[in-house]
Amino acid sequence: MSPDETDLSMNSPSPIGLAAHDVRVADDLLSLGWPAKPWMPATTHDGQTVHDVIVVGAGQAGLALAFGLAQQGIAALLLDRAPAGFEGPWATTARMETLRSPKELTGPAMGVPALTFRAWFIAQHGQAAWDDLGKIPRLQWMDYLRWLRRVTHAQVRNGCEVTDVQPQGEARVALQVSQRQPDGSQVQAQFLARRVVLATGRDGLGGPSVPAFVRDVPRTRWAHSSDAMDYASLRGRRVAVVGAGSSAMDCAATALEHGATSVDLLIRRADIPRINKSKASGVPGLTQGHYDLPDAWKWRIRHYINAQQVPPPQGSTLRVARHPNAYFNQNCAVTSVQESAGAEGGASQLEIHTTQGVFEADFLVVSTGFQMDWAQKPEYATIAPHVRLWRARRPADADEADAELDGSPDLGPAFEFQQNTPGTCPGLGRIHCFCYPATLSFGSIAGDIPSISDGARRLAGALASLFYREDIEVHWARLQAYADPELTGQEWTPADSSLRVRR
Ligand SMILES: Cc1cc2nc3c(=O)[nH]c(=O)nc-3n(C[C@H](O)[C@H](O)[C@H](O)COP(=O)(O)OP(=O)(O)OC[C@H]3O[C@@H](n4cnc5c(N)ncnc54)[C@H](O)[C@@H]3O)c2cc1C
Repeated sequence: MSPDETDLSMNSPSPIGLAAHDVRVADDLLSLGWPAKPWMPATTHDGQTVHDVIVVGAGQAGLALAFGLAQQGIAALLLDRAPAGFEGPWATTARMETLRSPKELTGPAMGVPALTFRAWFIAQHGQAAWDDLGKIPRLQWMDYLRWLRRVTHAQVRNGCEVTDVQPQGEARVALQVSQRQPDGSQVQAQFLARRVVLATGRDGLGGPSVPAFVRDVPRTRWAHSSDAMDYASLRGRRVAVVGAGSSAMDCAATALEHGATSVDLLIRRADIPRINKSKASGVPGLTQGHYDLPDAWKWRIRHYINAQQVPPPQGSTLRVARHPNAYFNQNCAVTSVQESAGAEGGASQLEIHTTQGVFEADFLVVSTGFQMDWAQKPEYATIAPHVRLWRARRPADADEADAELDGSPDLGPAFEFQQNTPGTCPGLGRIHCFCYPATLSFGSIAGDIPSISDGARRLAGALASLFYREDIEVHWARLQAYADPELTGQEWTPADSSLRVRR
């Protein structure tokens, strides 16, 4: 415990409660002059409102950005297809007990102490509970994000799925949106925005990476680790999990906790990675300066982190290993999978062929991560062919192939997409990529907890600057028309200078 924390716990031995904390937040925001005064000209097109910024996605990235934009006096509308309070993976597809991130990180608090997870937690549970807390429970993080959304007054419309994104020249972007109605029906609507930000998460421009060996296996026999699925259905079944990353451990543990007969982890590597290299790269210099690095350095760092692979958290690994019916099979690459009739006419099963031999299982989970794959995002079909990718910019000395890096968008300084061939998709630069695929261009500042506020501040500032330049005629006219006197002319009497000077 730090000396400061000792003092705090002595000053407030019992929690102040969330209602009192909300008052503190409101006061802090008032002190910071938040939100800043609006200054953007209202825009319409054919009588329809053109929003200044529409953010697709109201996870932690979208929330942080909306707050950052409000600090710049810019209103943002957030659209999310998820129901309210279920944005992102935390309460839907994630299965870990706790976050990997240390509890002390300030995440999407945007530099406001009262908005941190720590402040929110202590207000409700007290200092002693904070000192005792190991890592942040997954669902508690979701609760925190729900609260953050409320106290920062984020304007979110849930149940709104963006189905098409169309730049309309150098003026605006049209979004086709399917809106879920209270009766379950869908209504189609068009939204217009001057700028659109895709804050769409880890699989923001793609989806699950699915190995070829399961493509012909009936879908009832396998799932990707990111699929929504009721793991109670695995009770009494033999399960195999491909992979050894954090999600593989979470899926294996969840299956075991739901009564799977056994779980075989099929691990291609001879050993499970032990060191999380991305932790060492997370210094402020990278956060602020990755974008300005020469291409060769950007590539080298990201490729190295990808190739080294991130180990599963220790807690997640122990959560699996404590089960006697969990088997860590290393050096075990899957070569093919078939559904076959069971022995002696028994129930059918999976035969999983590996470099170690054939495993028999009833269900397979592939925990093989995510990939950039526009085909999995039909909502971007209009723009996808025009987006310049790093493939076209790969440094000459990049000796090793890296599909993820090749497929990453080559972003401009405001996270904006750039055109493959200039002139073929005017307005593409009005769409900004604030999600995981921005990592090669900007470093990890567009989604993960450690630097999400840095990324949001950077993007909000860049958008304010772009808007100002675009509207400079309006601001010039306003400057000239400005006529709010600070003096009335009654404050002083002009002197008769002739009486004051020596002739
Ligand atoms: C299982 C898991 C565990 C993780 N654990 C950690 C961790 O411990 N620490 C850490 O720093 N990072 C972690 N991450 C990485 C990262 O922090 C999370 O992915 C986080 O959710 C990113 O926040 P986000 O706001 O960028 O995206 P998300 O939280 O994924 O939010 C994106 C939102 O966009 C919406 N959306 C997408 N497409 C559309 C569309 N077409 N129309 C409307 N809405 C759309 C989605 O519904 C979603 O709510 C984890 C990721 C995963 C998958």
